[in-house]
Amino acid sequence: MLVLGLQKTTLLDYPGKVASTIFTGGCNFRCPFCHNRDLVFPPADAFSFSEEEILNHLIAKKKVLDGVCITGGEPTLHKDLPDFIKQIKDLGLLVKLDSNGTNPKMLEYLIQNKLVDYIAMDIKNCQEKYNDIACMINFDISPILDSVNLLKEGMVSYEFRTTIMKECHTKEDMLSIAKWLEGASAYYLQSYKESEQVINPIFSSHDLDTLQEFVNIIKPYIPNTNIRGVD
Ligand code: SF4
Repeated sequence: MLVLGLQKTTLLDYPGKVASTIFTGGCNFRCPFCHNRDLVFPPADAFSFSEEEILNHLIAKKKVLDGVCITGGEPTLHKDLPDFIKQIKDLGLLVKLDSNGTNPKMLEYLIQNKLVDYIAMDIKNCQEKYNDIACMINFDISPILDSVNLLKEGMVSYEFRTTIMKECHTKEDMLSIAKWLEGASAYYLQSYKESEQVINPIFSSHDLDTLQEFVNIIKPYIPNTNIRGVD
């Protein structure tokens, strides 16, 4: 595992839980709105944590932690992710995984072996616009479709979530996503926020009224749809 970051305690990353967040390096997408540039394009001299350092931290803090959030980058790129998670689960901690959904086989393995308790999967946009928004050329969306179908089977708690930008997401896109994800247990619209780490800071956020309009479009298909990240 290439671990490039560790947030020792967070109340935000794992819904309802006190967690540590582990940031893995590398991603197979190039979303221009990504706010983790140094994880997607790690500098050659990037500091990394050994597994031992991470596990020692978790052992020291396990009395105050409910769980661990593993995010990236894209954690499922790392073949040793299941072994790493197994060591975390052996400490009695819950595991939440953030994923872009490009590795449904890894997700399936983790679910079947009870190595994850919660999965948050990004939905970048409606299917027709996936190539554009992830900055991929001729990207085959079928792994994303497989991951959505896998999570909708409900064998693990999950949420879908979309970072919403004014330049990329329209009412029509929201309706298309809603029909695609119909019946999902939870869907969050996360308002885009600019930061120093954004790969290409050319985007802006919708106002709250527009986001609420989007929620109203989606709710008939996914009743548990909410806005996240608006102050
Ligand atoms: S937003 Fe997620 S999927 Fe996209 S480049 Fe960043 S880490 Fe990768």
